[in-house]
Amino acid sequence: MDNEDLFARSQQVIPGGVNSPVRAFRAVGGTPVFVRSASGAWLTDVEGRRYVDYVGSWGPMILGHAHPAVIEAVRAAAGLGLSFGAPTAGELELAQLLCRLVPGLEQVRLVSSGTEATMSAIRLARGFTGRNLVVKFEGCYHGHADALLVKAGSGALTFGQPSSAGVPAETTAHTVVLPYNDASALAAAFERMGDRIAAVIVEPIAGNVNLILPDAAFLQALVELTQRAGAVLILDEVMTGFRVGLHGAAGLYGITPDLVTLGKVVGGGMPLAAFGGRKDIMQCVSPLGPVYQAGTLSGNPVAVAAGLATLRLVQAAGFYDRLGALGARLVSGLTERARAAGVAFCAQSIGGMFGLYFAARPPASYTEVMACDQKAFNTFFHAILHEGVYFAPSAFEAGFVSAAHDDEALAHTFSAAERAFAALAS
Ligand SMILES: *Cc1c(COP(=O)(O)O)cnc(C)c1O
Repeated sequence: MDNEDLFARSQQVIPGGVNSPVRAFRAVGGTPVFVRSASGAWLTDVEGRRYVDYVGSWGPMILGHAHPAVIEAVRAAAGLGLSFGAPTAGELELAQLLCRLVPGLEQVRLVSSGTEATMSAIRLARGFTGRNLVVKFEGCYHGHADALLVKAGSGALTFGQPSSAGVPAETTAHTVVLPYNDASALAAAFERMGDRIAAVIVEPIAGNVNLILPDAAFLQALVELTQRAGAVLILDEVMTGFRVGLHGAAGLYGITPDLVTLGKVVGGGMPLAAFGGRKDIMQCVSPLGPVYQAGTLSGNPVAVAAGLATLRLVQAAGFYDRLGALGARLVSGLTERARAAGVAFCAQSIGGMFGLYFAARPPASYTEVMACDQKAFNTFFHAILHEGVYFAPSAFEAGFVSAAHDDEALAHTFSAAERAFAALAS
């Protein structure tokens, strides 16, 4: 069966034919690529077509696909049993490793998805502070828990409206949505209701609305205002953790958060995520404290093995320097080809993450991301997909390189980009 057949049949039994919405190609149109297998930097679809992959399962595959050491660790763990619902030595090893590498992490609990991690961190922050309000930022994504499916209300400092059907307005009434990178809006919110704010949750580098880098004043305001008000600062590093550096964005920017959420790379491609932070806060989690949190498959031994094998390799000397250099080579190569074709385009990278923008300069806010030329992106996306390069099927997603993106993968990408930009210019 080809991609078309599979998509048509999938739509009969799976809503939209996919198990997570962006995979359906709705933003760019056309038929999703059904993947048969992947190895290193390359995906192979069910029709036998190969693509250089810049999605990397939306972030986890930092070593490239099917890395032999990770596959071997998974095979070995699977042979010992798939799940026990009882503690294992592997969980201890992973927890110790995370506490050693992640700034602010004194204790950590393993869960199975980023959504679970952020949902649990928010419940914990509320339980710890005895307050209800949560501040989030427009364009940041923290998974699909009800309280976080919020869009900004009409005026500044108004409470959020549900951004999904099925979420009661009462649930989002405790969530305040502010503009990203706006230190004064944050200060105004704290001025008005600081003593009621349980937590501020933020992507330290926004990667779910293309890529927006944080400005220094914003980061400083996050730390100072939460500290002064006794609110919990939750850095959502589900995407950035072990992606932009060995110590995440917190390490890059010298921030020590109260709580951190991790996912994606920590599971090495298996369903594993984590939340953790200050010991006095983490001690409020059950069974020690009154904040309930649990999971049948939490700390799953096969997922832990994949995570440990992945995190062992990213600790190699120079790993993030090489990854960062790859990302930088990718964006400069693409930018050069766009300029040669006369296409208004720019790009930037940080560690193993990058953003592509059909705009004159990289956006610093949600509004600026929305102003990028979406039609140009869609044309470029399909043209380069046709040439065997798989970027995220939406103008509002960050891209990812892996350690397996070698000279051959980059060369293939650049020659494909030449033709794709030319198609756009014509
Ligand atoms: C992906 C992501 C999540 C959600 O993680 P899932 O594993 O998809 O539930 C949460 N926060 C951020 C920043 C993410 O990028």
